[in-house]
Amino acid sequence: MSTEPSPATGAAETEAPRPSNFIRDIILDDNSTGKFGGRVHTRFPPEPNGYLHIGHAKSICLNFGLAREFGGKCNLRFDDTNPSKEEVEYVESIIEDVRWLGFDWEDRLFYASDYFDQLYEWAVQLIKQGQAYVCDLTADQIREHRGTPTTAGKDSPYRDRNVEENLDLFERMRAGEFPDGSRTLRTRIDMASPNFNMRDPVMYRILRAEHHRTGNKWCIYPMYDFAHGECDSIEGITHSICTLEFEDHRPLYDWYVENLGIHHPQQIEFDRLNLTNTMLSKRKLLRLVQEGFVSGWDDPRMPTLSGMRRRGYTPEGIRLFCSRIGVSKTNGMIEFSLLEHSIREDLNLCAARVMGVVDPLKVVITNYPDDLTEEMEAVNNPEDPSAGTRKVPFSKVLYIEREDFREDPPKQYFRLSPGREVRLRYAYFVTCTGVVKDAAGEVQEIHCTYDPATRGGNAPDGRKVKSTMHWVSAAHAIDVEARIYEGLFRETGEENPDQDFTASLNPESLQVRTAKVEPSVQGAAPGSLFQFERVGYFCVDKDSTADRPVFNRTVTLKDAWAKIEKAQKNVK
Ligand code: ATP
Ligand code: MG
Repeated sequence: MSTEPSPATGAAETEAPRPSNFIRDIILDDNSTGKFGGRVHTRFPPEPNGYLHIGHAKSICLNFGLAREFGGKCNLRFDDTNPSKEEVEYVESIIEDVRWLGFDWEDRLFYASDYFDQLYEWAVQLIKQGQAYVCDLTADQIREHRGTPTTAGKDSPYRDRNVEENLDLFERMRAGEFPDGSRTLRTRIDMASPNFNMRDPVMYRILRAEHHRTGNKWCIYPMYDFAHGECDSIEGITHSICTLEFEDHRPLYDWYVENLGIHHPQQIEFDRLNLTNTMLSKRKLLRLVQEGFVSGWDDPRMPTLSGMRRRGYTPEGIRLFCSRIGVSKTNGMIEFSLLEHSIREDLNLCAARVMGVVDPLKVVITNYPDDLTEEMEAVNNPEDPSAGTRKVPFSKVLYIEREDFREDPPKQYFRLSPGREVRLRYAYFVTCTGVVKDAAGEVQEIHCTYDPATRGGNAPDGRKVKSTMHWVSAAHAIDVEARIYEGLFRETGEENPDQDFTASLNPESLQVRTAKVEPSVQGAAPGSLFQFERVGYFCVDKDSTADRPVFNRTVTLKDAWAKIEKAQKNVK
């Protein structure tokens, strides 16, 4: 892949040449023919009915990225045409998330609702042109009239209302004379079209719901298909990029702008992001929140940008992932491990190293002075010499990771075991001399001796050890709550249609442990990123307090993607 990060910044997507894709090719082509006068103007159009997720990040990176690359502009526009599901909380979270991801819409923050007056005027224009009519069928009746993929639909009995009557009825719909759902404004196109979207689609419905911006000014609201392209047109959008399910809507998109005789943006469709073991649907994510399966939209297990931010994912890592997956014309499935791989790659560059033990086992250095504390010099980030070094306290009683000791080591196990010498990182060589067990036979504590000549972790006589382990001093370590996450869902791939999706939630997606961590992390602010050496990347949670620091495990150090990539190469 041509997008390896440059180690100096980690911002691969801005430094390295990008692989081309079909959307860039279309833009290059348009620029060469002068189709839009060389302008590139895109938009990211979220509906404020939930928090943004990693799928939206793909769209954001694409829209803002193309604008940046071609010296164009990208608007942030809220598609707020459905007041019954939309809330100010969502608007605010979306603004925060797009900014956090690193993109800037300058002074171009818009709302579809800003254009309600203009949209109404255009609806009137279509009525006057004989291309729209007020229909008295109910939603169910409209559905019955629509026909099937193989048979034509039936004309509405109201289809031939004259212009005056339509203008009058539409005006009265707006004035609130009719109950919700009793009438619609429909486009007069073709009930026999092979494309369902062209069978006299609804343009306006009656809905009494308070809108987060227009309040109770309107009791009719435009449908997505009518509003979207017209908003694009008003804003002078050149390339209206959306996901593949809108491909069949493109003829209608084109029909509206052409029949209104207004600026005609080019709609281009790309593939939605699907990730293994991950649900990317706002409707389902909302259920997880409302039904208490997670602690909120920003629960670190959620695939939302706010959840990922809280978990410790970085904007750089997410952008790197988005540039790696690219865009295509067919829907596929991306391995979650590729996202983790990208996050890890960025964290490797920026996260401070510390020593922390997640499953502590006590070690007593029997020949070490009882009341001595030494300060060992440790490197803060081997990838970044400017990060410098710090002092880590060492004393007689330590903790190591329980899995770093085996009383009965299998072959190939080179960590601590009776009689074996290992290196304690930045400190000394130690040799295990004894094991203390409880009544049940469980190992309680390890006894070791240290070699004072190996201070700093090297033997002057040149002897080698096969393992280097992390540790913390028991007297100096601080207790932190470590939240260890696994996938929110157990199953990969296809959903079982007979079961509610919540049935495949992973009951072990959150495990809470008390970890022992070196004292340098005391007081680290929420959002601070660390690598607990040999254990994983961690991020200080917003629940953290001075008395009870809380760390989210962002990602393990094990690179599952590297394995998959290798296997794929072998297949080729
Ligand atoms: P959801 O199904 O999660 O509710 P949506 O498409 O209804 O998603 P919108 O708020 O309408 O959500 O989406 C804003 C933009 O983000 C749209 O252009 C949409 O195509 C894009 N988008 C949403 N989900 C994905 C995804 N999984 N991959 C790529 N783009 C996406
Ligand atoms: Mg939508």
